[in-house]
Amino acid sequence: MQDIQYKNISTDTINLPILQEKNITLDILRLDTIHPVISGNKWFKLKYYLEEAKHESKKTLLSFGGAWSNHILATAAAARLVGLNSIGLIRGETKKFESGTLQEARKLGMQLFFFDRENYRQKIIPTAIHQEEIYVIPEGGYGEKGAAGAASILSYSSKKDYTHIVCAAGTGTMAAGLLQAILPSQHLVAVSVLKNYTNLEKDILSIAKNKFHSISVVHDYHFGGYAKQKPELIDFMNDFYKETAIPTDFVYTGKLAFAIMDLVKKNYFLPGYKILMIHSGGLQGNRSLSKGTLIF
Ligand SMILES: *Cc1c(COP(=O)(O)O)cnc(C)c1O
Repeated sequence: MQDIQYKNISTDTINLPILQEKNITLDILRLDTIHPVISGNKWFKLKYYLEEAKHESKKTLLSFGGAWSNHILATAAAARLVGLNSIGLIRGETKKFESGTLQEARKLGMQLFFFDRENYRQKIIPTAIHQEEIYVIPEGGYGEKGAAGAASILSYSSKKDYTHIVCAAGTGTMAAGLLQAILPSQHLVAVSVLKNYTNLEKDILSIAKNKFHSISVVHDYHFGGYAKQKPELIDFMNDFYKETAIPTDFVYTGKLAFAIMDLVKKNYFLPGYKILMIHSGGLQGNRSLSKGTLIF
């Protein structure tokens, strides 16, 4: 298993006419390049959970997720990397054809258990599993440890150059970490990829150490809900790739890039602002789209 390549993290400047016209700088921090399997922000979020699991001499990591979950695959790969076993509790019945994500997780040695939606919600760990040896990572890595890990993301950027840091938010764990790490003069914008997750800001603040920094949560770019998409989003992602050579995923970073460009158009960001977009990875999830949907 290949190690994490921090040296691959680049900051790419986006040159699009609308940005010049509005006098806005947009740079993208490319966490998608650190590892072929452990997607961008997931490695950072897992870091302190892994440390604690090792410290407590646990043998196995256990976590939860859906069939295309970046978090499940990252957990499987990270466990492999640090020499632990892994178990995934998966939402949904066993399917005849397993998703590419779960097949890959299995290849990395992850043992999978499937739950219907109701049982998944209750998150009861099957009795077949040896509880003492297990270290449980919350769904999506949500929690203070996840946030603390994500807080180090900005140390791979030239943080002080920006007025705004903008990221996608699922559970909001990464956003909480970034909120901890920004300077008092900076502003964090989190773009929710879930529909009607009205508690998101509260959930971010409840695990962020520094609650006094400034944050806005934007709820208008979910495209129908979590892991939902529309032709308008896919077209945007293809165009964005043509113009910038940067691939995005349709669950998180595609919606994020769309939101940023739309907010620029709508003058949400003012002339002179310098934006750092966090490319949090997730490209493996594009495998769930039918072939040919994306040009990359
Ligand atoms: C998981 C994920 C996120 C969201 O992270 P949260 O900490 O759950 O908000 C954003 N982008 C990508 C690519 C992800 O895989």
